[in-house]
Amino acid sequence: MKVLSNPQVELLGMNEAELSALMAELGEKPFRARQLFDAIYRRRLTSFAAMTDLPVRLREQLAAHATVTRTRIKNIFTSSDGTRRFLLELGDGREVEAVFMPEARRDTICISSQVGCPLACDFCMTGVLGLKRNMTAGEIVSQIIVALNEVYGEGALPVKETGITKVGRDIAGREKVRESRDERHPLNVVMMGMGEPLLNYDAVMRAVRLFADEKGLTIPPRRVTLSTAGIVPRIDELAKETLRPRLAISLTAANDELRDRLFPINRKYPLAELMAACRRFPLTERERLTFEYVMLDQVNDSDRDARALVRLLNGIRAKVNLIPHNPAPELPYRATPLSRIMAFQKILTDAGVLSFIRRPRGQDIAAACGQLAARHEATA
Ligand code: SAH
Repeated sequence: MKVLSNPQVELLGMNEAELSALMAELGEKPFRARQLFDAIYRRRLTSFAAMTDLPVRLREQLAAHATVTRTRIKNIFTSSDGTRRFLLELGDGREVEAVFMPEARRDTICISSQVGCPLACDFCMTGVLGLKRNMTAGEIVSQIIVALNEVYGEGALPVKETGITKVGRDIAGREKVRESRDERHPLNVVMMGMGEPLLNYDAVMRAVRLFADEKGLTIPPRRVTLSTAGIVPRIDELAKETLRPRLAISLTAANDELRDRLFPINRKYPLAELMAACRRFPLTERERLTFEYVMLDQVNDSDRDARALVRLLNGIRAKVNLIPHNPAPELPYRATPLSRIMAFQKILTDAGVLSFIRRPRGQDIAAACGQLAARHEATA
């Protein structure tokens, strides 16, 4: 029997059909698979002992031969802004990081897709590590399970404190409130942690489908953003998926000369090809492609760079996130001063390009974009 010859098979990452096959192998009734799926993904239970709706005999059998996540929290670093960086240990002892950012109207979790990263971008700490290995779908999902369990308690659904959300003031200065129909506090997932998600395509897409399952985590694909440094053939592959996350492109340079230097992958897929893939990417009605532009002091932040960016994005329904560079001692760049970022943004705005200046989160605990390198200390 396959199951028994493979001790400690990992159930996290399996879909309902695979759990059904497993139950059949064990001679169990099909509805046990539904119960297991519910326990793993909706209730986020991480031990069989807690699955009290399963018969004791089955729980014992599962405990002997299977696991429901080997991912362990090794350390949690909490920032003064509430951001929490999770240092996670995978089943084989490898480490990855996930960053949880609570906000009034939603939580955001930034997750990893690979242990390390092969792309060696010149301004990113993860690139310094190199690629250790791909993560499995179960490991990708486990980051959300263990973080939510830590923040909200195992099995507890994130709920809003009240059904009323303050959404700002109207022109007359009156407070506007919105009554929420959804009692759950929404969770956004960004694949902007360690790794290049499009170089671990199958596991990432399997994870996205598991997130979306309404019998489980119920994180719809429109709340999931996949960020890529520009793996062109995989962008085209993603375009064909019926269920796909939102797409973000880490651009950061508007000409090939600079982009070749910052992103070695640009030599393989230069800007013309990348932008062509963006132009043919099918967007839904109100969807925009996100372009991340990390602001590097005196490297890519001149007025001329801003105008080149405007030209590059011509004809694309785009949104630009201007990210102040998060420094690290190992990285040869400084952050652009805010006044310069604002001048840069004004050129985009005047040309009709939508953009946002991102506030760095968790910088004091090395949790900000590009700082993830599985550090054991709070800061370098
Ligand atoms: N490989 C993917 C996802 C990981 S990087 C990608 O390249 O998109 C996630 C985001 O962090 C990217 O937009 C990247 O450009 C940005 N980033 C990397 N290093 C950074 C740094 N030091 N400061 C600010 N942002 C950085």
